[in-house]
Amino acid sequence: MTDPACLFCRIVAGAIPSDVVFEDEQVVAFRDITPRAPTHVLAVPRRHLASAADLTDDDGDLLAALFGALRRVAAAAGLSDYRIVTNVGAGAGQSVFHLHLHLLGGRPLSRLG
Ligand code: AMP
Repeated sequence: MTDPACLFCRIVAGAIPSDVVFEDEQVVAFRDITPRAPTHVLAVPRRHLASAADLTDDDGDLLAALFGALRRVAAAAGLSDYRIVTNVGAGAGQSVFHLHLHLLGGRPLSRLG
């Protein structure tokens, strides 16, 4: 379930350093290396999934864990307003093909579209 060629699998394994802000049995959350907001954290499953397109109907617990991780990170940062987003596919801006949710907060965020 781990891809040695995958950047985020290597971060989860501790083989590449990162600024981890939360972790549990299913999820690791760490600061984005190129933050686009004062708080920019990525929550990733320990298990390798290329994107949200690889989730199945059996992944409800994992989704709860991913959103729960970011809820805790946002609360710890004192954020009441924030955005959670995930990109699926290069055409949507995905550049790392290991499922991750972006948490963005700490500045005004414009409406989508
Ligand atoms: P996406 O473009 O949605 O696939 O998001 C990938 C994110 O990973 C980008 O926001 C990058 O800045 C971030 N990123 C890439 N390499 C690292 C790294 N080594 N540590 C933390 N974040 C990274």
